[in-house]
Amino acid sequence: MSEAPRGGDEPADLRCSARGCTAAATTDLSWRNPRLHDRSRTKHWLACDVHADPLADFLGRRGFLLSRAPLAR
Ligand SMILES: [Zn+2]
Repeated sequence: MSEAPRGGDEPADLRCSARGCTAAATTDLSWRNPRLHDRSRTKHWLACDVHADPLADFLGRRGFLLSRAPLAR
């Protein structure tokens, strides 16, 4: 847990990973930086509806994005 940029002091609550955003997450973005992480590592960012596109775009432009899936709630 707590791979997200924010502190994550509410482990039961799935919040958007975007800085300063406190909206409930609706999307799970899986990603890996191949220069930092070996192939067994997968990182996750959670995103709300507003930030799913910009965060996916950010990761996609760097070639880090592995998958994007709706978050089951
Ligand atoms: Zn957000």
